[in-house]
Amino acid sequence: MGMQSPGPIKQWRLSIGTLLFVGLGLVLTAAATLGFVLWSAAAVDRRALDQQAALARHVIQSQLARVPHEQESITIWDDSIVNTSIAFNEEWINVNIGRWMLDYFGHDDVLIVNQANQPIYAMAEGSAMGDARRDAALAQIMPLISQMRVQIAGGGLDAYNAGSVAHPPRVSELAVIDGTPALVSISPIISDSGTLTQPTGSEYLHVSMVRLDDDYASRLGEEYQIPALSFSFAGSAVPGIAEIPLTDIDGRFIAFLEWQQSRPGQALLDQAIPAIAGAFLIAALIMLVLMRQLWRNSSALEAGRADAEFQAAHDHLTGLPNRLRFESALTQVLMQRPDRDRRISILVMDLDRFKTVNDTLGHRAGDDLIRAVGQRLSQLLGPDEILARLGGDEFAIIHRHAPGLNGPFVLSNRIIDAIGKPFDIFGSEAFVGVSIGIATVESEEADAHELVRKADIALYEAKAGGRNRAIVFEETMNELLQNQKTIEVELREALRLKDQLSVAFQPLFAADGSIIGAEALARWTHPRLGQISPTHFVPVAEATGLIGALGSFVLRVACELGAKWPGYTFAVNISPAQLRDASFPSTVFDMLAQTGMRPVDLELEVTEGILLEEASEAAEALRIFRAADIKIALDDFGTGYSSLNYLKRYPVDRVKIDRSFVSQLAPGSVSIAIVQAMVTLAHALRIDVTAEGVETQEQMAVLRALGCNVYQGFLLSAPIPSAAFEKLLTEPESRVA
Ligand code: C2E
Ligand code: CA
Ligand code: CA
Repeated sequence: MGMQSPGPIKQWRLSIGTLLFVGLGLVLTAAATLGFVLWSAAAVDRRALDQQAALARHVIQSQLARVPHEQESITIWDDSIVNTSIAFNEEWINVNIGRWMLDYFGHDDVLIVNQANQPIYAMAEGSAMGDARRDAALAQIMPLISQMRVQIAGGGLDAYNAGSVAHPPRVSELAVIDGTPALVSISPIISDSGTLTQPTGSEYLHVSMVRLDDDYASRLGEEYQIPALSFSFAGSAVPGIAEIPLTDIDGRFIAFLEWQQSRPGQALLDQAIPAIAGAFLIAALIMLVLMRQLWRNSSALEAGRADAEFQAAHDHLTGLPNRLRFESALTQVLMQRPDRDRRISILVMDLDRFKTVNDTLGHRAGDDLIRAVGQRLSQLLGPDEILARLGGDEFAIIHRHAPGLNGPFVLSNRIIDAIGKPFDIFGSEAFVGVSIGIATVESEEADAHELVRKADIALYEAKAGGRNRAIVFEETMNELLQNQKTIEVELREALRLKDQLSVAFQPLFAADGSIIGAEALARWTHPRLGQISPTHFVPVAEATGLIGALGSFVLRVACELGAKWPGYTFAVNISPAQLRDASFPSTVFDMLAQTGMRPVDLELEVTEGILLEEASEAAEALRIFRAADIKIALDDFGTGYSSLNYLKRYPVDRVKIDRSFVSQLAPGSVSIAIVQAMVTLAHALRIDVTAEGVETQEQMAVLRALGCNVYQGFLLSAPIPSAAFEKLLTEPESRVA
């Protein structure tokens, strides 16, 4: 059964797909963003490092330019020539050159050499330099001194004196002096006034050395705003420490210049990452919440849809498939290829006396009972058999069995047994019976509707046949029911001609076995269909208004017999439709008058339902009849709407306990208690009790023990023609049963 998938589901699913897509996009975006941010931060840092390295190199270059510039404050000075080469004055040199350079410019070591490059003055950090160190230093800087000599010889000084260059020759390089890296700068000592002339090449040279130590590094760092600037011989492995190698004039390694690398990209990252992560986290959370909501909504919707689907196909009370589902399942079963040794039958069931339970114990009890019945039925079925509740107290089964009718009958008997056992409802015991109509699939092109209809007809037959039984559908039933119109037409014809209709009399017996009267039962012998049961044609007569004529016919025959046999009771069944007819009492009185029957010998059998019609024509008619000494019997007692209490309000002369109770009577059976209650109450109200449908000696014995007054049933006598009945009255010994 293809259910169409409702639109919203599709949309929800779509949204989930979209959301997943968006979620994936979010993750990818996050990854890409993160990747890009990391990459650009690294790029920024790389560029920053390049700049810092360039700055570091610039710092060294500018130092290499600055130191000679600072030297020139004393090397281009007449006093310096005078106190070094002309009249060597160590004291003056100490004050004006050595100390001055140290204190004012931070030049750690100072050397002065003569024209022969011999040291005439050597000072280390303010005091006289040891000879060993002085010689070592001199040896190391000799190449630079030579360079200076070459520059001077090449006319470097002349160009300066001529004013064509900005400063005298300078040699300023990095070098390792006595194991210490240092900046070494050499300047010639020359005249500032130009009055003191020296022959070219005779100039004394002044050497300033600035040690590349921590002190110097921190001073530079402060000046150039470079954090943690330092010199080291070994490269740093510490992350975040950047370095450049420093080399001497020959390209030999001298030291590393190191500093705390500034990483703006990393710094940005450190700040941005939490924000970015936070943003993505929030986005992810929102996504999650959205997806969860969507998922919930869609699963709720899906569950709702499945529920609605189930609800539409199932009965809410029992959870069993409903009529709709049953019929579609049946259609499917019928569509399957027929199996040679499997047959399919359907059983349609209707509870007997369910209404009694419902009306006496209440609707909730009725619901409980239906549920319990559903459970009992399910327990009887095989796995591939289908049980459904068609509605009300009607159930149906799709039954698979071997060819022949044995299967359905065995199942039916088990069902009747199971349902016949008492139900515990709200602590009290409830008793119901079940009538079953069976229809078997005969031909290949069976139709589900048709099959159910046939089973319904058989069910109707089963109920009419005395309830608590199973009847298999036969074609003759169909013929009758299929065409109500035909029955109507033919019944009308039968009523006109009369020769097809007759009245049978079923004797009524006292406890001692003597006949006390008879019940008149209409009989129709159809020329083509044969015997038609009153359970078929009486309802048609009631529905079509023919019941009046039919009832009058039976009444006339009964009254004629009653007139012949005064002292015997003749019971006639009266339909509610007849009772409601205002002219009915006069019909009865006319009939009595015409036939001469005594009113006291006539008993009218009415059904319980009529008692509910308080203050109606029917109730009024009953009062009139009783006033005229005509007896009133309540037929089918216990099956209808009334409770025992009605008996107190509506005086009747007799109750006829329905044969569905009688058929369940067996020693120890629960029905005994019910019948006992009915008899006790009736007798308390001075009402006689007739047991109808007595079929076995066992039932007879029980009924007798319970104190029933009158007995009727196949055990004692079937309904018989009037002649046969009269024969029984005259010759009681001719009784066969
Ligand atoms: P009812 O009034 O309950 O009539 C008793 C029915 O029980 C009769 O069925 C009778 O043949 C059947 N019966 C008698 N003893 C036994 C027995 O031991 N076992 C079983 N299983 N059945 C037994 P019948 O004649 O087929 O009548 C069926 C119903 O049709 C009657 O049920 C009554 O309601 C209605 N009916 C019959 N004749 C008339 C009539 O003239 N007028 C009206 N209004 N209804 C009638
Ligand atoms: Ca009756
Ligand atoms: Ca009856």
